[in-house]
Amino acid sequence: MSDCIFCRIASGEIPVEVVYEDEHVLAFDDVTPQAPVHTLIIPRRHFTSLQNDVPPEVLAAVFGAVRVVADIKGVGSSGHRVIVNSGPDANQSVAHLHVHLLGGRAMSHGMVNFA
Ligand code: AMP
Repeated sequence: MSDCIFCRIASGEIPVEVVYEDEHVLAFDDVTPQAPVHTLIIPRRHFTSLQNDVPPEVLAAVFGAVRVVADIKGVGSSGHRVIVNSGPDANQSVAHLHVHLLGGRAMSHGMVNFA
């Protein structure tokens, strides 16, 4: 989708420093990090959110990449948080499915603002 910023990143039209990529997914650091490690993992194909009938193999690839990316970013064993905002009540701001991987600092049990 040409008006989707994450599709434009996935296609290479908007360059990013790639943290990890494979056939199904691309991972890159969030432009406004909420923690020392804040990396986004996106499917290459466009899905608006988890509500968008995402095929199981794509979900497996996206969530399977979490462990790999966490290790690459050095937060595999120290711990990390995974967040997926879906839809308006969750304040999803980019309508292309993405997983936030956060780590590198202790986080509270708060569920708001990545706290
Ligand atoms: P969400 O609110 O869950 O939709 O999160 C969207 C995330 O994408 C936010 O944390 C933004 O900082 C991040 N973001 C938006 N544009 C870019 C970009 N060009 N490169 C990296 N991260 C981005």
